[in-house]
Amino acid sequence: MLSYWERKTFFQHRHLVICGGGFTGLSSAIYFKRKHPDKTVLVLEKDPVCGGASTQNAGFACFGSASELLADLTHSDEDEVFELVEKRYRGLLNLRELLGDGAIGYEPLHGFELFRSKDHLYDNCINRLDYLNDQLERITGERVYRVADERIREFGFSGIDHMIENTAEGQVDTGKMFKSMLDLARQTGVEIYNGITVTGFEEGNVVEVQTGKGSVTADRFLIANNGFASKILGGSRTTPARAQSLVTTPVEDLKVKGSFHILEGFYYFRNIDDRIILGGGRHLDFEKETTIEMELNQEIQRELERIMREIILPGQDFEIEQRWSGIMGMGNEKQVIGKQLSDKVFCAIRLSGMGLALSTLLGKQMAELIE
Ligand SMILES: Cc1cc2nc3c(=O)[nH]c(=O)nc-3n(C[C@H](O)[C@H](O)[C@H](O)COP(=O)(O)OP(=O)(O)OC[C@H]3O[C@@H](n4cnc5c(N)ncnc54)[C@H](O)[C@@H]3O)c2cc1C
Repeated sequence: MLSYWERKTFFQHRHLVICGGGFTGLSSAIYFKRKHPDKTVLVLEKDPVCGGASTQNAGFACFGSASELLADLTHSDEDEVFELVEKRYRGLLNLRELLGDGAIGYEPLHGFELFRSKDHLYDNCINRLDYLNDQLERITGERVYRVADERIREFGFSGIDHMIENTAEGQVDTGKMFKSMLDLARQTGVEIYNGITVTGFEEGNVVEVQTGKGSVTADRFLIANNGFASKILGGSRTTPARAQSLVTTPVEDLKVKGSFHILEGFYYFRNIDDRIILGGGRHLDFEKETTIEMELNQEIQRELERIMREIILPGQDFEIEQRWSGIMGMGNEKQVIGKQLSDKVFCAIRLSGMGLALSTLLGKQMAELIE
């Protein structure tokens, strides 16, 4: 039974209630509150910090490796593919403007894609590099892709014969970025309650948002829980996609600097200070990785460790300091879903594997859409 004080504080009516305290929920809240300073905004987050992708990700400020874009072009049309690239690129600029480069630990160290000489993906990329550069020049103003084989030795990789550099990509410190966004949301006047799970909602004159602790009413309700959306919305708008990661202990004289992709982006690694963070391998077991259970997949973890020892840090001393998994929201297509579902209910979900780039722009769009 709720106390008088609980009703008077937490359970009072709000203008906007948001389910999900990741980058999308928080940035939607910030932009909405900036637009409507007098309206109340409450973010409900099920976990102590954020239980989704926003605190688990690898911190790539990226918008597409050459082989990944070519793979996307085989199942989506050209306009869709480059429209999404443009959203990611503009999204990264928007993120940097919203929080500032210092606050997110932004470093323009470039992106790189690695290939072996027998790799048919490399031949495909080389054959179409001019085409990709033409498309990307329209978006970024630069011809971003260049062959950078001469830099392979500098990074100390083993078994890598070719490298394509993307000169417009960088990296962020995910921890710094998340904290800065939380701080900005609170400074802007957004209320954030953690440890509250939304269990459902009912729309009438107002929206009754049901939680494990009781119901909160709101004029508008935004569902921004990404890979967990089907739990509230049902259906198949999003499918959870788990991603495995690991990070090394500090490595002496680490040569690797930048954000690296292998195999159409299915593996990705980067330096974070003097460590390497490596993630991916979902394609090794798509079925098991379609889940919201945040557990380790030993087969994938073993393969990640092999890649780390044999390709990325051959002959170097290090241990694996930590391993974790995170949940992304995917779908049949890579487009995000940001829309009005009914009179008072909205959703901003399915940010896939490049949500750092997409989330703040989506948040801005939602703040425009929700009145
Ligand atoms: C391992 C990994 C690596 C990644 N690497 C990168 C990268 O390098 N670059 C990049 O751009 N993107 C990357 N991504 C993707 C990116 O992190 C996400 O797209 C982005 O963080 C999505 O933000 P979001 O706020 O939409 O969702 P989330 O961060 O998933 O937030 C959703 C929130 O909703 C909460 N929630 C769920 N259900 C409920 C409920 N019923 N009630 C209350 N709260 C609920 C969750 O706990 C969670 O905090 C990566 C993702 C993962 C998992």
